[in-house]
Amino acid sequence: MLTRTRDLTAQKRPRRVRSRAVSTLPPLVISNLKPHEVDLAYSSLVCPTCRTWVPINAPDSSRPKLVPHHTEKAGTDDPIRCPGSHRIVSINITVDQWFQRLEEGLTQTDGRRSRRVIRKPKTGATPAVMQIVGGTVDDKTARKLDEAHIRGCFTCSVKDDKGNILRAADLTSRCTDGRRLAQLAAHTKRLAPARRKAQMDREDFNDRRAWALRLLHEQQWEKVSEPVADADLRRVRDTLAALIQTLNPHKTTAPQLTAWERADLMSAIALLATQEEQLAR
Ligand SMILES: [Zn+2]
Ligand SMILES: [Zn+2]
Repeated sequence: MLTRTRDLTAQKRPRRVRSRAVSTLPPLVISNLKPHEVDLAYSSLVCPTCRTWVPINAPDSSRPKLVPHHTEKAGTDDPIRCPGSHRIVSINITVDQWFQRLEEGLTQTDGRRSRRVIRKPKTGATPAVMQIVGGTVDDKTARKLDEAHIRGCFTCSVKDDKGNILRAADLTSRCTDGRRLAQLAAHTKRLAPARRKAQMDREDFNDRRAWALRLLHEQQWEKVSEPVADADLRRVRDTLAALIQTLNPHKTTAPQLTAWERADLMSAIALLATQEEQLAR
């Protein structure tokens, strides 16, 4: 696998968490950015130059900066680094304030949407439940749940004199659970094609993530060797690019990372960014 000889005695290198490199662009002021383009919970934001999510290095320090990044596919020869790399970030709002802004923005969006909806569900909790269940239940399951409910519910079924079920009651006369299940069935049916496509994309995505993590693993093992060759820097940059790419899948239908997966990737990126800065000195 590796052909070049190594001197396994690592030289002691001075540690510096952040490099002095600074982008020529003016500092990014968080309060001036759109709240949905900032994620203070995970210290990342959409770089205005290249429009991708980029982690903020050392967000708690006195001079946080965007990590160095380029946006070409990992492994691209001579990738062009985004001028937003090392751009100083001014975090002038708290996480709570940011979250509040985000919520205000979402409420406004909901208001715009609701004018187009003819009949709103009565309870405010319904959309949330729908979102949670809707993401975990597929169309077939939802349909079966709905049918089972209709069979067992007096309110939701229309019966003949002998008690045989003729059909489901109209949506407006069904019970609260029945209405939710009917909505869930309709909702998942609409989403079914997208859901199946997302499943295929997920496999593709997992392949890419496995590749990124393998690069990361190789890189971590590689860093014990000296002298530091250009190949090391290239490898770190490729890994960084791969990880950032994983955070910013090109396909909009690619599965979202869980909070834990994101946090994992973020810390890996922050670590690599620090290494990259040390190697590039
Ligand atoms: Zn950028
Ligand atoms: Zn019912």
